[in-house]
Amino acid sequence: MNPYFIEPKLKEECGVFGVFNHPEAAHMTYLGLYALQHRGQEGAGIVACDGKRMRVEKGLGLVNDVFKEEHLQRLKGTMAVGHVRYSTCGDDILKNVQPFLVNIGQDKLAIAHNGNLTNAVRLKRILEQSGSIFQTTSDTEILLHLIARSQKSKLADRIVDALNQAKGAFSLLFLSEKCLIAVRDPFGFRPLCLGDLNGSAVFASETAAFDLIGAKFLREVEPGEMVIVDESGIKSLKLLAPSPLGVKQCIFEHIYFSRPDSVVFGSNVYEVRKALGRQLAMEHPAPADIVVPVPDSGVPAAIGYAEESKIPFQMGIIRNHYIGRTFIEPEQSIRNFGVKIKLNPIREVLEGKSVALVDDSIVRGTTSRKIVQLLRQHGAREVHLRISSPPTIGPCFYGIDTPHKSELIASLKSMAEIRDFIGADSLGYLSLEGLLHVEPQKKNFCTACFDDRYPLHPED
Ligand code: AMP
Repeated sequence: MNPYFIEPKLKEECGVFGVFNHPEAAHMTYLGLYALQHRGQEGAGIVACDGKRMRVEKGLGLVNDVFKEEHLQRLKGTMAVGHVRYSTCGDDILKNVQPFLVNIGQDKLAIAHNGNLTNAVRLKRILEQSGSIFQTTSDTEILLHLIARSQKSKLADRIVDALNQAKGAFSLLFLSEKCLIAVRDPFGFRPLCLGDLNGSAVFASETAAFDLIGAKFLREVEPGEMVIVDESGIKSLKLLAPSPLGVKQCIFEHIYFSRPDSVVFGSNVYEVRKALGRQLAMEHPAPADIVVPVPDSGVPAAIGYAEESKIPFQMGIIRNHYIGRTFIEPEQSIRNFGVKIKLNPIREVLEGKSVALVDDSIVRGTTSRKIVQLLRQHGAREVHLRISSPPTIGPCFYGIDTPHKSELIASLKSMAEIRDFIGADSLGYLSLEGLLHVEPQKKNFCTACFDDRYPLHPED
């Protein structure tokens, strides 16, 4: 095995939350993570500090499974950071669950990271060659080693020192015994927001976390900005070298990843998705009797599609939200079993109908293929698949779990081949121009998964 192996960068999605100076810091963080659960279901952790001691609780699984009241009681103090994580690989996955808590000299430091470094392999090699020993396969640990080696005395300067050597995506929260620090990389790939909870500063990947705890959304942490919160208040510093390409926020947060009730990159995600659906209807009308979303991710775009096309919207497929992690499959094969656990079409809605089926994206094409088959089995006469994003032709190196090019159907097949593989009567993807027309800050988005124009390439 390659000794410099780092967990494949395509496989990590995360959410972060932090709070400073709140009497129930751990409970607030628990709730914040609960609201960010969609960003990672594999593991969750919280580090809390009472000014003297830092304590950590973490585990594998959903936030609600990991944390019981006794864990939160142990997490004493008025400051805390938390993390949810999704990752499909790594043997010792518990070790990779964040926040990481380490000693740096006399001080303790916790880190929670959303995003992936593109020069992780190179940095890790250099660090290991000069004596660093790594405990995890996560690129986040690299940042801790770089901070530990910095010759600067102040924590903020040491962090800047480290981050100026790192490339890629990082929306980060650091917690020390004295302060909470938030940083966003100069491209601003992943979101990070600042809020106010009755005078206490809070940070979260998405504003939906603020809604749950009753915090007010103040603003986003700006790309390249470091926000330091301590006893003296909130300070903003711009110490990272700016990105030569400007800001490149992930457009896929708007298309799929973020919650529709969040405000991300200055826009409400639900409104953006609806507008994408309207644009899709203009670009690809369908001879349909009803518009049906693939729930849940396709719902806002389908509402927009229905509004624009004046075709009635119908929830023709119902999603079961209560799917456990330890599902035991029957031995006898049932057709499309995997998809049926999650999605069940309604025959009474579909019988004899021509359906415009709306989803946000196609990755491998396997789910869409099964859904189209299911709709036909439940009486749909025609199925016209409409996708509210352009064809996904490339992986993400900055924190979205998209597979390698060789597994992305749109990088392998022509439109007609995809349509035939999926078994739809017609197929229409939103154009890249259409997507950027809908998005108000068109120049500020990373669209690499749709156009192969990567602002940063992974380095060996
Ligand atoms: P596929 O069958 O592989 O084409 O999967 C398509 C479905 O995956 C769509 O319904 C998307 O909403 C969903 N999807 C897109 N990106 C992701 C992602 N990063 N993680 C999980 N699901 C995704």
